[in-house]
Amino acid sequence: MDFSLNDTQLLQWESIVDFSRRELNAEVRNDDLQGTFPLPKWRKCAEMGLLGLLTPEEYGGLGQDLTSAAISLQALSYGCEDSGLTHAVVTQLCCVVLLNQYGSAEQKARFLPKLSSGELIAAQSITEPDAGSDVLSMRTKADASSSAYLLTGGKVFISNGPLADLVIVFAKDSEGKSSFGGDISCFLLEKGTPGFSAGKPLAKMGLRTLQNSELFFDEVAVAQEAMLGKRGHGMFIFGEAIEWERVLMTAAHLGTIQRVLEKCVSYAKTRKQFGKEIGQNQSVANKIGAMKVNLELGKLMLYKMAWLKDQGKRATLEASIGKLFVSESLKSACLDAVQIHGGYGFMQECELERDLRDSIAATIYSGTSEIQQNIIARMLGL
Ligand SMILES: Cc1cc2nc3c(=O)[nH]c(=O)nc-3n(C[C@H](O)[C@H](O)[C@H](O)COP(=O)(O)OP(=O)(O)OC[C@H]3O[C@@H](n4cnc5c(N)ncnc54)[C@H](O)[C@@H]3O)c2cc1C
Repeated sequence: MDFSLNDTQLLQWESIVDFSRRELNAEVRNDDLQGTFPLPKWRKCAEMGLLGLLTPEEYGGLGQDLTSAAISLQALSYGCEDSGLTHAVVTQLCCVVLLNQYGSAEQKARFLPKLSSGELIAAQSITEPDAGSDVLSMRTKADASSSAYLLTGGKVFISNGPLADLVIVFAKDSEGKSSFGGDISCFLLEKGTPGFSAGKPLAKMGLRTLQNSELFFDEVAVAQEAMLGKRGHGMFIFGEAIEWERVLMTAAHLGTIQRVLEKCVSYAKTRKQFGKEIGQNQSVANKIGAMKVNLELGKLMLYKMAWLKDQGKRATLEASIGKLFVSESLKSACLDAVQIHGGYGFMQECELERDLRDSIAATIYSGTSEIQQNIIARMLGL
């Protein structure tokens, strides 16, 4: 087993960290306060190739495998202090993966190049006001009775929702089999389609530069060709998508943990109280030590998850273990980081309170921690 990064991955790590620090960290505090999506930085991410990490080269991307893309995302969130922007990038990559895996040749040729160049922004929409963790209870329906499908219903909390040019919509097909989600299909919906609208960006506790909103479908006509994958395969697609999403989110969270950890080490070595550095106190050092333990264990889990997906295998159990462990580790690392920085940690100037606010959502989106625990128990036959 080889745990080292190869030369290409090392170079990629260094260049993305350097890029992120140089191009993405100005005005983050202000953008967070205003809740503004930093479109110029998004375009820079596209120029850097970050939106095309997983897009095949023939469609203008870098065609990386998931392991390399996971390293790139860690580098991005390690260098970039705007976790909302990183989340928007991850959302785009999740949509690219779905299109690449299930899209027709026409759909890929039409959308993948523009998603990699950042010209189009994408969102994926599953959650509804009455169907969050319980995905199968979704009510958005796709009526197949006319020549086109008619989408009716609504989604909520959708990342990139207010900006999205292309939305992947999961909906219940009126003629499908209702058992095990066999009535759910997946559609590509374009901005400007009559009957489709997005709500205003929702005000949030954290990840405020990421734009989230409701989506409304009022008898939106979508052609047969707009279906992604096969009819009734929505839950199968969702199952695959959520594994990729959990790997990509986990990669981004680990980069943030590393950034926060290094900030704590630096502060603990320089801040003096009672005539010595605060890091000389075991209760402070132990908090930082725990961050390091979680970072290293999280990386092992990440690379296992990514390796499984690169082999074309399912990683349901591993993705849930990794997502649960790393998202909870991120939240506790950010909370401890504020504590280690004392009063300064509580101030906006220190920029850790934003990381803490941002981290809270990590144990909610992409399946809550409780749902990951349920999946792990189910996989153990409980
Ligand atoms: C920042 C952010 C970005 C998001 N982006 C997207 C997106 O792009 N697309 C999208 O479709 N959705 C998105 N979501 C929605 C997200 O996926 C849901 O919020 C999440 O799945 C939980 O659903 P819910 O909010 O309805 O909570 P609920 O399902 O109502 O859960 C409420 C509480 O009950 C617990 N609970 C529920 N069922 C069980 C159970 N069986 N066992 C134990 N505990 C249970 C939950 O763990 C939670 O603590 C986003 C959410 C956030 C916060």
